[in-house]
Amino acid sequence: MAERKRLVAGNWKMNGGRADGLALARGVAERARGPHRCDLLVCPPFTLLGAVGEALAGSGVGLGGQDCHPAASGAFTGCISAEMLRDTGCSHVIVGHSERRHTCSETDADVRAKAEAAWRAGLIAIICVGETHAEREAGLACEVVSAQIAGSIPDGADAERLIVAYEPVWAIGTGLTPTTADIAEIHAAIRALIPAGTRILYGGSVNPKNAAEILGLEEVDGALVGGASLKADDFWAIAQAC
Ligand code: PEP
Repeated sequence: MAERKRLVAGNWKMNGGRADGLALARGVAERARGPHRCDLLVCPPFTLLGAVGEALAGSGVGLGGQDCHPAASGAFTGCISAEMLRDTGCSHVIVGHSERRHTCSETDADVRAKAEAAWRAGLIAIICVGETHAEREAGLACEVVSAQIAGSIPDGADAERLIVAYEPVWAIGTGLTPTTADIAEIHAAIRALIPAGTRILYGGSVNPKNAAEILGLEEVDGALVGGASLKADDFWAIAQAC
């Protein structure tokens, strides 16, 4: 079976105007011309996709959206389709991020429909799953994540079009991380439920200090990075930990 090449993906969330975003993209592109052993992806806000895509041209760094609508086009004010992302130069889209599951009440069925839309448009879907703090405390982490996997991944998934990101909700943006044993346990549980060769990223407060330990785990195929992806040096240090 082909080796699972690691991926370090930056989720910029709702951060950055044109000047900041371009400076960050250029910083990442410049560093990415140096030696590295992982794939790199940045997911800027929709408003910056075009400009960031141009800044990344020729660097090998991929471009991704942070969400998409299930429909290809239509009367959905404020929404962006997977086809639009593709047209803007994206290769990937994040779906089911916990900030959307929790603040926009997205269900597994919604996430599944978005992943189907991503595939329809020729994009790779990064499907996020993860338990809340209360669920972990109740010993339900594995059960919750397994149910999200079952409900969110469309039929016909394959390792070329699917990436799973395990992101414990309580670890996102908090500086907290699970133990490496807990990360390994959940990744192994996910691995048993998805097509062979599919990459599983860990996300939740990954930073240059903890990246080597987390990315050193056999079951971890890369990282989805929020806060630390907003500084080119930090993002690059995480990539170098691969
Ligand atoms: C994220 O939002 O996907 C994330 C992992 O954020 P942070 O790295 O800031 O915890």
